[in-house]
Amino acid sequence: MRFTHRTLSQRVRFASGDAAAALAEEVTALGASRVMVIAAAGKAEVARRVADGLPVAHWHHETAMHVPLPVAERARAAAREHRADALACVGGGSTTGLAKAVALTTGLPIVAVPTTYAGSEATDVWGLTDNGRKTTGADDRVLPRAIVYDATLTLTLPADLSAASGLNALAHCVDAMWGPRADPIDRALAGEGIRALRTGLPQVADDPAGLPGRELALYGAYLAAVAFASAGSGLHHKICHVLGGMFDLPHARTHAVVLPHVLAFNAPAAPDAEARIAAAFGTGTAIAGLDLLRVRLHAPTALRDLGMPEDGIAAAVRAVLGAVPANNPRPVTADDLTALLRAAWEGTEPR
Ligand code: NAD
Repeated sequence: MRFTHRTLSQRVRFASGDAAAALAEEVTALGASRVMVIAAAGKAEVARRVADGLPVAHWHHETAMHVPLPVAERARAAAREHRADALACVGGGSTTGLAKAVALTTGLPIVAVPTTYAGSEATDVWGLTDNGRKTTGADDRVLPRAIVYDATLTLTLPADLSAASGLNALAHCVDAMWGPRADPIDRALAGEGIRALRTGLPQVADDPAGLPGRELALYGAYLAAVAFASAGSGLHHKICHVLGGMFDLPHARTHAVVLPHVLAFNAPAAPDAEARIAAAFGTGTAIAGLDLLRVRLHAPTALRDLGMPEDGIAAAVRAVLGAVPANNPRPVTADDLTALLRAAWEGTEPR
């Protein structure tokens, strides 16, 4: 065995029902006295509850999906103006993403309180969108110093969004099996992530107000993100990244639609990954496991339903082609991508 695995350093707390106390402790541990709290306008009340005990210098409520550059620049200016010395973000991946955009230029430490299964809080990856082009990068400065997972904050996440967000986490696990830096540790974490998600997400679907399913889903989402951060973006994420930036598609739902098509495409050329995913699902094949879960969760199936224009397929193929990871389990041609994206656009059976 020869590999080099990098473990990212952060404190991770699972504290159902105790986000406020845990967040206050993490902020105190940073020695911060002027916290900028970032939360979407619709989450302002939750953020006030969670950040109740903090020395807040500024409440920032302008967030947007895929972190548009002007939104990031206004948040950076606010951090400067209010002389913030730490950032606390309460929300989904878009909110965490904005905190990361601020940390990227200011170096301010982040404590993240996630409310979806996106997993951004456990990665050192930032993303910004400028004029329909999404740029991402990895930087130690954007990795939150601490994460507070409080599953009670996810009880309000609607069933459809919970399913899509959970499948976004599952996509992290799948891509972690064959990403450019995938190693045995990533694969072990990803396998446990799939097990947690395939158990937790159906529980969430059956009982959205029940805590055990929510906790398992958050646990799976965390493992998924850690594995993904180490392994790097595989073909699936390269495709979704292009689609998200080009057509402003909803992030989690896009992942939910595209994942089975990439799995069906890569699995025959990646027998070890296929076997691990199948074992984690407890099914005969990886595809069968994912299909069962998607049906159970009533996952979205077609990009056209998410607003992608049919005549966008060709442009997306061109953009993805230049980004296919060199180590993808099988070569990817323009025809392959066209067939894959057309099937995902139409919502036909993954092949
Ligand atoms: P999101 O943050 O945009 O949230 C989706 C919607 O759900 C929003 O309207 C939000 O207000 C709402 N919401 C969030 N939590 C809720 C809750 N508990 N109850 C009710 N409503 C809630 O979506 P997302 O899928 O969490 O994140 C997507 C973004 O995260 C994308 O921009 C993506 O690129 C980024 N992301 C980054 C990484 C990374 O490693 N950098 C990883 C995953 C996702």
